[in-house]
Amino acid sequence: MNRYYYDLHLHSCLSPCAEDDMTPANIAGMGSLCGLQLMALTDHNSCGNCRAFLSACRQYGIVGVPGMELTTAEEIHLVCLFPTLEAAEGFEAEVRTQRFPIKNKPAVFGNQLYMDAEDKVLGEEPNLLIPATKLDLEAGTALALAHGGAAFPAHIDRPSNGIIGILGNLPEKPFFPTLELNDPENRDQYVRDYGLEGRRMLCSSDSHRLESMRDASQWIELDDEPYSSQRVRDALICLLREGMV
Ligand SMILES: [Zn+2]
Ligand SMILES: [Zn+2]
Repeated sequence: MNRYYYDLHLHSCLSPCAEDDMTPANIAGMGSLCGLQLMALTDHNSCGNCRAFLSACRQYGIVGVPGMELTTAEEIHLVCLFPTLEAAEGFEAEVRTQRFPIKNKPAVFGNQLYMDAEDKVLGEEPNLLIPATKLDLEAGTALALAHGGAAFPAHIDRPSNGIIGILGNLPEKPFFPTLELNDPENRDQYVRDYGLEGRRMLCSSDSHRLESMRDASQWIELDDEPYSSQRVRDALICLLREGMV
């Protein structure tokens, strides 16, 4: 077992609400300066920059994890992480059929840029990525699991798009053994108020700007023997899936 300092919720310039300089290369570079060892890219309803992100992470010696922040039909944000790019892309292909084709207005919502790992713009996503999809919480969770991934509710300590803010509490089904807090200081209060003893609490930054990326402080222990980046990703997803299936 080894300790990995992580940030498992980050947005690139493909998310309209993220700044254009959140390129995959810049995120990996900033993560390296922050002392992170394990990072996931989780753009809204898309995995389109994950290929570039994984490549940029490799260049900095960071283990990159492909992911997505899915907006469910209930407007709940769900972080979905995958062991491989292929698994993430398979999930995305199905999510794409469940998005509403609303055109993005870059001047209003922001740019949605596809990038390579060398900061070159490859194109723009024409449809707005952030609205709710047709997948409800149960269907979205099942779909992530079916593609070999893991899913957990994002920023449960935020009223907007947090599962508790929307549903009032955690549902019995699907059961989420892992939850994400935006502010680690809220941990004790949420455990007490919502009976969350025994659940794994991850704290990630949900950064949309380079300046809001945080110095390494949150860690997770993973069985990474024999060591390889793929083994670390597999161990992470395996750990997060425990209790879900
Ligand atoms: Zn969110
Ligand atoms: Zn987010």
